Amino acid sequence: MNCKVCQQGQLVKLEGDYYDYISRKKFELLSCPNCGSKQTSGNVQGDYYGQAYYGSSEGKFSSLFESIFLLNHQRNAKSFFKRFKPRSVLEVGCGRGYMLSFLKQLGCKVIGIESAHAASWILNNPDVPVSGVRDGEKWPIEDNSIDLIIIWHVFEHVSDPPAVLSEMKRVLSRDGVLCISVPNIGSMQAEIGLRNWFHLDVPRHLFHFSPKGLEALISSQDLKIVKKEAGDFLQNLYGWFQTLANRLTPENNNLMYRFIQGGEPWKSTPQKPQLLVQLLLMPLIVPLGLIGWLVETIAGRHGSLTIYVKKRNAAE
Ligand SMILES: [Zn+2]
Repeated sequence: MNCKVCQQGQLVKLEGDYYDYISRKKFELLSCPNCGSKQTSGNVQGDYYGQAYYGSSEGKFSSLFESIFLLNHQRNAKSFFKRFKPRSVLEVGCGRGYMLSFLKQLGCKVIGIESAHAASWILNNPDVPVSGVRDGEKWPIEDNSIDLIIIWHVFEHVSDPPAVLSEMKRVLSRDGVLCISVPNIGSMQAEIGLRNWFHLDVPRHLFHFSPKGLEALISSQDLKIVKKEAGDFLQNLYGWFQTLANRLTPENNNLMYRFIQGGEPWKSTPQKPQLLVQLLLMPLIVPLGLIGWLVETIAGRHGSLTIYVKKRNAAE
């Protein structure tokens, strides 16, 4: 099978088993020798996005962490607004619509795209209009109409990244900016963790992009990369903490994360003793994670990466 990311390499199966930390089902990873991107294989069609993933309509995390999550979205929204002054913004995979609702407050016209299978409280968001679309379906958005498109930790979830990229290109305005942020399979935390890497998240993450693969995919659609930078600071730092904690209880991934989520995700977590191991070793994990984050930042191999893209003939 050909790599869908770079469209060059022939995928080969990677050694080992890769488990969903929620359903505990087993999956395989296929790797591209050309670009280093990976693809999740196995029974990926099931519904792996229940309450144990999203939390409830009240929030994804328990209240303290939900506030941090919200503040982070607000910070990102402000930074997008300051940088690009967009009149119209589309967020692909907008989830609860936090970022869009902040951008709306700043005066932008906003629209969200979500999976048609998403929960009704996501699709019927009172703050922002959200369109539910099925795989391969044309989005109900006019050609060349959006100044800023954001796809934030969502591109790795879609079943056909080239088709989604082509749809984003269709609706992007002539001088508009597309911002793609994804976990980086070429990062140091991915290399150290892999099956225990926080951002592997099989089978919800169907594609695991390397910088080389993502750049090849973007270039293949006559788009140009205008900037590359480290992805979200919180995602990169937490990626280290959780990955190191996972290495200590390798059969039980992301227990701290589920603890932080609280609510249904936490209630459906039976491995309390293993969580205790992760928590008791925090005095060791935190300094090691900070060192890891620092080294990866200096080496430019961040846990997640963000790429800004424009149409080939757009103004700089
Ligand atoms: Zn490839």
